[in-house]
Amino acid sequence: MNRELLRSLPKVDELLQEETIKEQLGSSMRVLVLDSLRETIEAFRKAILNDEIQSLTKEEIILDSINLLNKKKSPKLRKVINGTGTVVHTNLGRSLLSKGAIEKVINVAENYNNLEYDIEKGKRGSRYSHIEDIIIKITGAEAAMVVNNNAAAVMLVLDTLCREKEAIVSRGQLVEIGGSFRVPEVMKFSGAKLVEVGTTNRTHLYDYEDNISENTGVLLKVHTSNFKIMGFTEEVAIEDLVKLGNEKDIPIVEDIGSGVLIDYSKYGFVYEPTVQESIKKGMDVVTFSGDKMLGGPQAGIIVGKKKYIDRMRKNQLTRALRIDKMTLAALEGTMQHYLEEAEAIKNIPTLNMLLCPKEELKKRAQKLKRKLQNKTNKFTFTIDNDYSMVGGGSMPTEKMETYVIKVKSESFTTQQIEDKLRMNEVAVIVRIYNNEVILDLRTLFEKDYEIIVEAFKNM
Ligand SMILES: *Cc1c(COP(=O)(O)O)cnc(C)c1O
Repeated sequence: MNRELLRSLPKVDELLQEETIKEQLGSSMRVLVLDSLRETIEAFRKAILNDEIQSLTKEEIILDSINLLNKKKSPKLRKVINGTGTVVHTNLGRSLLSKGAIEKVINVAENYNNLEYDIEKGKRGSRYSHIEDIIIKITGAEAAMVVNNNAAAVMLVLDTLCREKEAIVSRGQLVEIGGSFRVPEVMKFSGAKLVEVGTTNRTHLYDYEDNISENTGVLLKVHTSNFKIMGFTEEVAIEDLVKLGNEKDIPIVEDIGSGVLIDYSKYGFVYEPTVQESIKKGMDVVTFSGDKMLGGPQAGIIVGKKKYIDRMRKNQLTRALRIDKMTLAALEGTMQHYLEEAEAIKNIPTLNMLLCPKEELKKRAQKLKRKLQNKTNKFTFTIDNDYSMVGGGSMPTEKMETYVIKVKSESFTTQQIEDKLRMNEVAVIVRIYNNEVILDLRTLFEKDYEIIVEAFKNM
């Protein structure tokens, strides 16, 4: 340990007299400047104690504290680059909004608007009216409404139709979705009593039938979005549930999870049930997320029979779960693309990424690799075939063929590369597989290639 160096560490008061620091005080909160100075001095002290440095200058300390100050002042919620290939990445903000949806948000946010005003009648209007028609048009349902997220949607539906009553669910559908959405707990919260029927792998129509009583509020079907049971399995078909529900005059509710509005099997995916299909088969109420495979903002969408939706609208919970104007604008913008399937695929980033052809991904990989190789020499980059995931607990068995860039280095370990990319000014999040850093082209945008190249260059 270098005692002399330790003694030469400047004090906070001393640094406060420096012109560059005084300048910072003019534009930053004093407490932030002080914290940055203290923490930087402390970092230098530690480095001296650990014999990590043998010299220092006041300028170095000032520069480091200004960098730290800028970091403290920068927004905490910020852009990252998703190199994982997981399209609906729950940790990275799920779906990206389309340009059209973003424009609508800006327009509504910076102007007064008709959120709760009926322009034609010149009277108070409903905030849900704007979105209802278009959802009805696309899903074929009688009525629609929207709340904060799908968890809220399920809660509102059960609270409205099943408070103090029993909801019959198959044991094979008592799922937990990431972020602690657990079907049994949501039900408890809503005041519905859970009646589990059948077994984990097989549930028959008679399991529902035998458990129906005068206390039954709903028959609930939950889409097991994030896992698949294989082998000796049986689920009751929607048609049979609907027939049973109608006979007994009990509403049938489906939490379909991901909000799939397009039949993806046309594009080579395994078939994933669509909202339209459930409605067509007679489901009374269907709920789904706005920001999973639908590709819009966080929202919970409820569609179904008007008599049930009307009851939900009157529920006091609706006021607490209500969606805000920016979300409404984004959702309307997203749904408008769905009026024409080709437009939806072209404009909604989530769909665009999911359906991006393999050959296109290969071209992108070649382009990014060329850029990387031109600017850095500490790494070798190779292009390889791999698979990307849908994510968001959707289509867990779907593996989409993709192209990736694999990174090797003599100078850095895999973990060091991952760390440095993540700690880059714009964080670059990658996948590590078999001790290799992998950048999946499916979720990368050309506008970010320069940032990625710089991140490697700066290592
Ligand atoms: C994702 C999911 C939810 C939760 O939806 P959020 O919009 O995240 O609240 C509920 N049920 C199912 C089946 C899901 O897949």
